Amino acid sequence: MLKREEILKMFETAGAIRHGHFELTSGRHSGTYVQCALVLQYPRFAEKLGQALAELFSDVRVDAVVSPAMGGLIIGQEVARALPDPKNALGGGVPALFVERDASGMMTLRRGFEVRPDQHVLVVEDVWTTGGSTMETVRVVEEAGGRVMAAGALIDRSGGAIEFDVEAQSLLEMPISNYEPEDCPLCRQGGVAIKPGSRFARTAP
Ligand SMILES: [Zn+2]
Repeated sequence: MLKREEILKMFETAGAIRHGHFELTSGRHSGTYVQCALVLQYPRFAEKLGQALAELFSDVRVDAVVSPAMGGLIIGQEVARALPDPKNALGGGVPALFVERDASGMMTLRRGFEVRPDQHVLVVEDVWTTGGSTMETVRVVEEAGGRVMAAGALIDRSGGAIEFDVEAQSLLEMPISNYEPEDCPLCRQGGVAIKPGSRFARTAP
């Protein structure tokens, strides 16, 4: 099992944890920002993190992993790779499927992905802030007839505030301190919040 320090070191090495003054997608301000894509771009890190996350579910039967696009794609693939072959495996291991938004913004299974009735599913995402994408993914799987056994994420930033209807475990708890802009201590010091995002990814080392 990876230790918390080892996990953090991978994130820090990859520049995936930033300290500064950020405006999050929610509009709230925060002094730290985590961009999992920056650590997952390195295959050896992604593989190790996937193995460690998969270990949390070693007592759960998993026939398929389903992740929300885009954030969940790489970690979903790596968790699936680390899981033991399901019964009646086709030789490819545990399948890693993903849901994505359709034109109306609804999460849905596309590309011919299918969840079979009573298939045991593990839902995997990179970060939980509100857990909304994981909850949507659970709904899509259940509507397709699958059985969601558990949900996992690399990082839980909610401070344990999310209540999922299924067993849920994260590899790392990193509660986010964030503020409404009018209450933000960083703004009060005269700073200006920046929006991390695609530009942030391009300027990363
Ligand atoms: Zn601020």
